[in-house]
Amino acid sequence: MTYPMKPRILLTNDDGISSAGLWAAHQALLPLADVTIVAPATQQSAVGRSISIFEPIRVSKVTMNGVVAYAVGGKPTDAVIIGLYGLRLDPVLVVSGINIGENLSYESIMTSGTVGAALEAANQGAPGVAFSVQVEDQGEKFDDPSRSMLDFKNAETVIRTVVSRLLEKGFPASADVININIPARWSGRYEITRLARKLFSTGVEQRFDPRGREYYWINGPLLADAEEGTDAHAVFKGNVSVTPVTLDCTAYEANDDMKQLYSRECISGDCSRK
Ligand code: MN
Repeated sequence: MTYPMKPRILLTNDDGISSAGLWAAHQALLPLADVTIVAPATQQSAVGRSISIFEPIRVSKVTMNGVVAYAVGGKPTDAVIIGLYGLRLDPVLVVSGINIGENLSYESIMTSGTVGAALEAANQGAPGVAFSVQVEDQGEKFDDPSRSMLDFKNAETVIRTVVSRLLEKGFPASADVININIPARWSGRYEITRLARKLFSTGVEQRFDPRGREYYWINGPLLADAEEGTDAHAVFKGNVSVTPVTLDCTAYEANDDMKQLYSRECISGDCSRK
């Protein structure tokens, strides 16, 4: 008897290859797919979709938890590009996470390395899904992710449910990435959401170094809530937030205003030269 081949998934993250969150995702995906881990060697949170083009990228084949994986000396985006074009994995899906800390609002997803990896994958033709788990103590985001004591049980259930459905029914045609956030205390419900505008009340803290010169930390508390229907509000309520995301950031509705602004110029591209 022959068995159908399992679909291939590339698994990556931004907390680094030793993060407990990545290995929880691996555990959740194993029954569903042929999973290959290609992940940054070190902590790369908040690097967004930045890419290493001024440095060489080293890739080490390592064995961790009895599994052969690829540790990439670079960004999450580098790991995805190496997986797709260096290792030629040809995955049906790229999964990024589980990130230790929520990635809610467009303020956050544009700096998130977890979401950055999924965006890169989608831009290269492999749909991406990002998973992040809310932490109750923001300090947990800055602890060693390999020693995280977070409970990933709910996140694993969510990953298995979401990914098995995507494999079964296909990726939604008009989405490039699906951004999923799991609350610290789950109601058991899922909610399809839109991105909130902000997650943090951004601020800077001024301090002084031993030589009396000032330096700054970007810091600020979480906002208490966001509007109904947003990802942040869903997670604050205890629901798993599922946000479809597109890569095209064009402000189509601004087209008419822009034409007004440039009414004296040739902007259609087919004007004859004067
Ligand atoms: Mn992270």
